[in-house]
Amino acid sequence: MTERRQAVEIDFDRATKVYPGRRQPAVDALSLSIPAAEICCLVGPSGGGKTTAMRLVNRLVELTSGDVRVGGRSVRSLDPVELRRGIGYVIQQVGLFPHMTVAENVAMVPRLLGWSRRTIAARVDELLDLVDLPAADYRSRYATQLSGGERQRVGLARALAADPPVLLMDEPFGALDPITRARLQRALLDLHAQVPKTIVFVTHDIDEAVLLGDRIAILQEGGVLAQYDEPDALLARPANEFVARFVGADRGLRRLSLRRLADVELEPGADGGPGLDEGTTLRDALSAMLAEGSDSVTVLRDGEPAGSVSLVSITSLLGEEM
Ligand code: ADP
Ligand code: MG
Repeated sequence: MTERRQAVEIDFDRATKVYPGRRQPAVDALSLSIPAAEICCLVGPSGGGKTTAMRLVNRLVELTSGDVRVGGRSVRSLDPVELRRGIGYVIQQVGLFPHMTVAENVAMVPRLLGWSRRTIAARVDELLDLVDLPAADYRSRYATQLSGGERQRVGLARALAADPPVLLMDEPFGALDPITRARLQRALLDLHAQVPKTIVFVTHDIDEAVLLGDRIAILQEGGVLAQYDEPDALLARPANEFVARFVGADRGLRRLSLRRLADVELEPGADGGPGLDEGTTLRDALSAMLAEGSDSVTVLRDGEPAGSVSLVSITSLLGEEM
């Protein structure tokens, strides 16, 4: 129904923000490029400048110096209102209008854009289905009749309404319980696979960043970029002491969550230990072995034993380059 707009690249080019009356920059000469249709996680301590950096993209914060380009065009050269129409924005407190139904909330931007009633209705249903809220069940509910996780899904649908090529998400799942949070992380990855957008995702949770990010940017106090890398490289080779401390002593374990049983060479024989699907992460496999006191797992492919992986082979990966 709606034609898909191409995802675009985002370039920070020595982007700097000094808030009025402050001496230290909140974001200091930040340079990084986010390729089109990738998810970039901005991670760092509270006050590290993550929200500021993100808001430079949609000009909710104005640059002091340097530039940010979206699809090759400087945000300085674009009208802020126009610019924001191409950028979905999702925050922790979704800010749904309580006196409006779910459908009316999601339809907000299309209505501002003057779409026809019929196009809007079809788009709302499509979006609710996309975020796994069956339209028939949800379109007429009010925000107060939704759980926290459902509200966050509606916020995401609303941000996607006009099919923006860019999505900014500022700790969107921060207030959710761990199970709901994990579900929404999965939903976001599924959605991203279906509808590729360039996503800037702020989180202070390195595990969330490792799970979601194609790349991770770690910001240090004062808005200084400490490292920008793919998750595996970041965990394997922290650029400095700050990053090493931030990613934690158990960064080896975190790297195991990036690998699945299907990625390692199987040992023949399938009589040892619990059976796990080949899609299981090595971290979960290790956890299963420790929980069951077993020194190997049987790897299942389509439900059939395909070989095994031993505890020794997994722990040896912890100490070396994978
Ligand atoms: P983060 O999102 O990583 O927690 P922020 O970007 O919100 O960090 O804040 C970075 C720094 O800028 C902090 O020192 C914060 O106090 C300051 N700051 C944020 N917003 C404003 C503002 N509107 N005016 C002045 N200082 C601000
Ligand atoms: Mg913030």
